[in-house]
This record gives sequence, structure tokens and C-alpha cells, in this order.
Amino acid sequence: METQEQFSRRPTRSLEIRRDRYLRARGGTAKFLNLYCSKCNTWLLLYQKDGDGRLLRCYLNRIFAPANLEALQYDPNIVKPRDMKPLLCSGCGEQVGIPTLHHDGRLSFRLINGAFRKKVAADG
Ligand SMILES: [Zn+2]
Repeated sequence: METQEQFSRRPTRSLEIRRDRYLRARGGTAKFLNLYCSKCNTWLLLYQKDGDGRLLRCYLNRIFAPANLEALQYDPNIVKPRDMKPLLCSGCGEQVGIPTLHHDGRLSFRLINGAFRKKVAADG
């Protein structure tokens, strides 16, 4: 599992907001969030949150890091929620997200209330 430090030291990777129809549908604004396990404080992932409103789920196509989670969106074997594993904290094993299919057709992790904390990483 890649750590947040390893990710931010990767020189070729810069944070660039992914602009597509999903972003436009949410008003065109986005920010990057770092998510942490609320139980043990382990970094979970870097996420592009589109629009305002609460963070309820993490769409696969908005996960930028770590590499193993970022790769899910390109995995041809993942087409349905049951092809995915639950999102677990790599530090303590706590379950943070449940695989689900959103009504717009995108696979995501529905986040478990209280299982994570978020911090704004950068604005787009
Ligand atoms: Zn944890």
C-alpha cells in the first residue's frame, strides 16, 4: 500500500482536476480531499470531490491515490459492485466503504458514516 508521503514525493504526478460531464453536472467546481481512517488515522486515499455537499461516496473515477485504488477504475474485471472488495483501512482493517453502483452508472464506495475523516488537499 502506497503511503501519502510516497504519493506526494512522486515527481511526475501533479494534481489536476478531472473535468468531464460528471464534474459539469455538479456545477464545475471540485476540490481534492485526503481521507483518513477515523480509528487509527491512517491515510486512506486522495479524492476529487465534485461540487458542494457532503461526501457520501467515493467514485472510482475520482480516486487519485494510492495506486492500487486508483487502478480500480481501469480494471476490466470490475464492472459490478460485487467485483469490488470493500474499502478497508490498511492500518487497522476497519471497513470504510461499501462497493455500490450509483444511479449515474458509476461504481463507487459508499462511505460509512464516522469511519473516516477528510482534509482539503487543494482547490481546483
Ligand atoms: Zn484504521
